[in-house]
Amino acid sequence: MRDLETIPQIAALPAEIRLQLCAVARVLPFRVNRYVLEELIDWSRVPDDPIYQLTFPQPDMLDSADLQIVTDLLRVAAPANELEAAVRRIQRGLNPHPAGQVTLNVPTLGGQAVRGMQHKYRETVLFFPAQGQTCHAYCTYCFRWPQFVGLDDLKFAARESEQLVEYLRRHPEVTDVLITGGDPLVMRTAALRRTIEPLLAARLPGLTNIRIGTKALAYWPYRFTTDPDADDLLRLFDEVTEHGMQLALMAHASHPREFATTAAASAVRRVRSTGAVVRCQAPLIRRVNDDAQVWADLWRAQVRLGAVPYYMFVERDTGPKEYFKVPLARALAIYGDAQRQVSGLCRTARGPSMSATPGKVVVDGVLEVGGKQCFSLRMLQGRDPAWVGRTFLAEYDERAAWLDELRPAGGEPEFFFQRPLRDLQRR
Ligand SMILES: *Cc1c(COP(=O)(O)O)cnc(C)c1O
Ligand code: SF4
Repeated sequence: MRDLETIPQIAALPAEIRLQLCAVARVLPFRVNRYVLEELIDWSRVPDDPIYQLTFPQPDMLDSADLQIVTDLLRVAAPANELEAAVRRIQRGLNPHPAGQVTLNVPTLGGQAVRGMQHKYRETVLFFPAQGQTCHAYCTYCFRWPQFVGLDDLKFAARESEQLVEYLRRHPEVTDVLITGGDPLVMRTAALRRTIEPLLAARLPGLTNIRIGTKALAYWPYRFTTDPDADDLLRLFDEVTEHGMQLALMAHASHPREFATTAAASAVRRVRSTGAVVRCQAPLIRRVNDDAQVWADLWRAQVRLGAVPYYMFVERDTGPKEYFKVPLARALAIYGDAQRQVSGLCRTARGPSMSATPGKVVVDGVLEVGGKQCFSLRMLQGRDPAWVGRTFLAEYDERAAWLDELRPAGGEPEFFFQRPLRDLQRR
């Protein structure tokens, strides 16, 4: 982890720009490491470099009035509490917890809400180990950022995996546990083992897949190669395979450059040698990867290493969304152009998909119905399992960037899921 001003390339910038970057870094999380600085960012292309855009605060990420407020406070070295209050107000204005995560997805055990878990889709439970709620470096568009900037009341954190096992015993329909964060691979292997071993020991008949959501392949591939407990980690993956389960490493992969280093290639090779599967997913982000060529290269790089392209997400409606957003129409065009450039092995990524309140909704295409342009949409995941696979139409809107900006086609008053969702939220 590095302080922004101690990074030589940043220290060399004009004072006013430096002040602005520091101001943004007070509001949005900033963290970077030597690997990202030295191996991923191409400093000759800064500020346009995609990895720089992915990890470094940019002045335009904040509303200009908000940016002014924080830079002014920093300039006059305002009292800490004054600065803190301004920063908190701006943070809360950035929709820190989208898609009903706080109220709708928290599971209960014996009538009590279980912290540190989410259960939204029938087959898959999300588990947030307390020590995994940070990352090797931070993405500026991250929707988990309240956990990093200390908006504590919004944080999910589990202390024990006993509750997880107990919950799974009572929910035999769950086939997948997705261990997530932050990045659970920030944890030492010994700590991760305390989450995974009880899942293996419990011999739950329904549980077949343990997934780990991580950005470590991209931000710290040494986690799988030369870190002191890298070998232990691989042994743990082996044990999952030996128990007849799949260990799926859900790798957050934004740009082909992340696979171009020898460290990343060895990391993928070592993970695969345990029988684990690497599946890759990332959001489509303006200035980082809003280019069909980049996605085609990204998928090719993954498949070449034996990793499987899994999802292309639409950026969520949180944080500096305006800075990064790509309208759905453009996201669809990028996805289609990229798919047409690659072989079938690379076409396993589904997208562009929105993780919205009712479920994961993919934009499949644009159709003409009754002389009118429509988006054809499909539910890939549904809060109600009966919704999975349902297709529906929305009026074409070139600027819409999220589900809630779309209107049903054909004069329908609302989408099929809106009423049941309202009933659910009222409960
Ligand atoms: C995406 C997601 C999952 C996993 O969905 P898959 O389509 O099975 O990968 C599980 N829970 C939540 C809340 C999700 O957003
Ligand atoms: S790696 Fe994932 S959780 Fe961590 S900062 Fe990036 S998007 Fe957020």
